[in-house]
Amino acid sequence: MQMTEPCPCGLDKTYQDCCYAYHSGEATAQSPEALMRSRYSAFVGRLAGYLEATWHSSSRPPLLDLSDSPNWLKLQVISSSVDQNKGKVHFRAFYKDGDDVAFMEEQSDFVQEDGKWYYLSGETN
Ligand SMILES: [Zn+2]
Repeated sequence: MQMTEPCPCGLDKTYQDCCYAYHSGEATAQSPEALMRSRYSAFVGRLAGYLEATWHSSSRPPLLDLSDSPNWLKLQVISSSVDQNKGKVHFRAFYKDGDDVAFMEEQSDFVQEDGKWYYLSGETN
């Protein structure tokens, strides 16, 4: 990911001014949606360490293998909500499937602990 290019997460900012702050540890995502976007960008950049660090310990896979991760194209956040220390984000993540564009759609659950949001689980449909 290039610092001066548009952030993969889809916000109208450069990567440097957007998810890089989270990936580098300079900032902490303040909402489930911000965390979701930064995690999507981390999937694009294959930043396994960031994905593990933002995955709740109760559901984190023991070994995160991104080698067969698809070629992600864009993220569409459909809705997001926060209720105290729990959050939900409904999104579609588009990827290249041969010559076609496909997407996976997920309703993700997030939980906040000690001021930090973590990805808990997701239901794909
Ligand atoms: Zn971003």
